[in-house]
Amino acid sequence: MEKKLTCVSCPIGCGITVRIEDNVVTRIAGNQCPRGETYAQQEAIDPMRVLSTSVRVIGGEFPLVSVKTDRPVPKRLILQIMNYVRTLSIEAPVKIGQVVAEYLLGMSASLVATREVHLAQQRTSRSISENSL
Ligand code: SF4
Repeated sequence: MEKKLTCVSCPIGCGITVRIEDNVVTRIAGNQCPRGETYAQQEAIDPMRVLSTSVRVIGGEFPLVSVKTDRPVPKRLILQIMNYVRTLSIEAPVKIGQVVAEYLLGMSASLVATREVHLAQQRTSRSISENSL
């Protein structure tokens, strides 16, 4: 079997052709550098992705906070990770970079917040003071 990939390791975006036999990469062509070979090897057999999603916030100015994994995780596990993420909630306030969950499915990846969420009443008092100006 052959797979055609686009290397995302740099902006050049080389088109790479990978031949796979019995779940083993036997040929890689089209990459202009060794990084492309590493990328193609991983992508062809076990693709990895950074997962971006959101987690429920308790007592915050917003009901959700955006989060992402701090490293790529296997694409084949994303559904399982999402099922776990749906069970999570975090209490406000939430800081950018705050770890929301560690060791996702026993892996070294963590889920970290990508925005701030203040306490609900902090926003209310700020809004009141802004409105009174
Ligand atoms: S193979 Fe090398 S040059 Fe081509 S896109 Fe990947 S990193 Fe860039």
